[in-house]
Parts: sequence; C-alpha cells; structure tokens
Amino acid sequence: MEKIKFAITSKGNQISNTLMQKMKTYLLDFHLEYDENQPDIVVSVGGDGTLLYAFHRYRNRLDKTAFIGVHTGHLGFYADWTPDEIEKLVIAIAKTPYQTVEYPLLEVIIRYTNGGREARYLALNECTVKSVEGSLVMDVEIKGQRFETFRGDGLCVSTPSGSTAYNKSLGGAILHPSLQAIQIAEMASINNRVFRTIGSPLVLPGHHTALLKPVNDADFQITIDHLTLLHKDVKSIQFRVASEKIRFARFRAFPFWQRVRDSFVCDD
Ligand code: NAP
Ligand code: MN
Repeated sequence: MEKIKFAITSKGNQISNTLMQKMKTYLLDFHLEYDENQPDIVVSVGGDGTLLYAFHRYRNRLDKTAFIGVHTGHLGFYADWTPDEIEKLVIAIAKTPYQTVEYPLLEVIIRYTNGGREARYLALNECTVKSVEGSLVMDVEIKGQRFETFRGDGLCVSTPSGSTAYNKSLGGAILHPSLQAIQIAEMASINNRVFRTIGSPLVLPGHHTALLKPVNDADFQITIDHLTLLHKDVKSIQFRVASEKIRFARFRAFPFWQRVRDSFVCDD
C-alpha cells in the first residue's frame, strides 16, 4: 500500500512549533511519509488564521488533500482539535480510511479594463471590496439583473464557513457549511432619500452570480481571506460558489452549531 503523505503548518509561535514537532514524530512513527509538496493530509497547528494560510498554500491540490486543524489558542472554526487530543488524532489518521466533510468555497473573478485580463481567486472565508479613497460606489448585479447601486465603506462576500468571521461582525447571518451558498453583507452603506441599498445581508444559492461594476473609480482594495491587494483598472468583480471544495478529515462528531455555541455563547 502507498504510504500516506502528510505536511504540517504551524502558526510559528513556540507552542505551535513544539506541537508540530511532536505530531511529526508520532506520524513518522506510524509510518506516514512527510511530504511538504504533495501531502494527502495537511495538519494546521495554531488558529483559524493558520488554516487559512494552509488552505492557500495547498490551494492547487484541494481535490487530493484533506485538512485538519489543531488549535493552540482559543477554539477555532477550522482549528477545532485540542493539543491533548493529538495522540488520538494521530492514531485515527494512521488507521485510514477516514471520513471527510466538504465545505463550499467562494470563487472571485476580477476582470480588468486593459486587454481583457482576468484573475481568479478562491476564498475559504470571504472577499471584501473597499475603495482606496472615499466611499465605495458599485453597481450591483445579481444573476445578470441590475439590483442596486451601493455606496458605503465596502462589501463582504463570504462562504458559509466564513460566515462566522468578518461577515458576523457586519451583522450577517451564520450559514451552515452544508449549504451551497454565498452571502453578501454591507459595510456601512449610505442610505437616505438620494442613495438606497437593500440594507440586509443577501444569501445567494449555488447557481446565482453576483457582479460588482465600478461606477467611477476603478482602483480597489480587495481582500481574499487574510490577503490584501490593491487592484487597478478593475472592470468588474464576479462572485459565485466555486466548483472546488475544501475537505476536512473527520474523526469525531463536532457539530457546527456546537462550535458556534462554544465560540460565541458559552462552553459549559
Ligand atoms: P485575524 O485578525 O487574526 O482574524 C480575526 C479573527 O477571526 C481571529 O480571531 C481569527 O481566529 C478569526 N477567524 C478566522 N476565520 C474565522 C472563521 N471562519 N470563523 C470564526 N472566526 C474566524 O486574521 P487571520 O487570522 O489572518 O484571519 C483572517 C480573517 O480575519 C479574515 O478572513 C476575516 O474573516 C477576519 N477579519 C475580521 C474582521 C472583523 O471581524 N471586523 C476584520 C478583518 C478580518 P484565530 O485567532 O484562530 O486566527
Ligand atoms: Mn489569526
């Protein structure tokens, strides 16, 4: 049988690095192979931010990789294993086959005015769009139909698993990650007798596309998860549920709503 190949990413602080070394030793003892470039399993040790980083590092082999998140700080949504569970975790990994769960991702296509160039991104949490100076002004189209002209600080388009992150701070709903959907949430929209936006977060199903078209300015500050980039000469930004998914190895039940409760309400 082929050996299972694994990689481990660490947040980089001492506690995460120590845990990473320990897991690596255990997994090698169980005859797994360490392969940073083509892992079947990626273990992220740190927080949700560490898993976001690991996701983007292995973004070109999502169909061949399962992710596992161990948290060295507070409980995370992606980092939901505790350090004292790692022995159990290692045994479960070594004893394949293991179950996996898939979460939807957000596809972002940015098209530019010069020469029909375009860039495609995948987000695990969200994409946000802000102006570089002054209010963001964007025509919003949904499924090819004009919807509104947005004026305000910015827009946030999130995945279901990202709905507990930035989206939640903006008053967006928490979506169960089994839903194939994306959510658009406003950042401080301007609403008066002249300017009007919907005001509520919108949840779009898998077969709908949202499109933002700049009204004046064509330069924007766009984030994809933890990554921020300045994009110039933007013609449009398109959002939809991606055809790719992220897979998590599932070794025990930890229902999403329980994670929500433990993270935001209380953990008794
Ligand atoms: P960060 O500043 O450390 O992240 C902010 C917080 O969001 C951290 O506590 C992080 O957890 C948590 N988080 C990340 N993904 C989450 C998820 N899916 N559900 C619930 N909480 C989540 O930066 P980062 O660690 O690189 O994470 C980037 C993310 O920060 C972005 O994708 C965005 O969602 C979020 N963010 C939020 C706001 C806001 O709420 N106002 C503003 C900017 C960015 P860990 O400590 O475990 O990493
Ligand atoms: Mn973080």
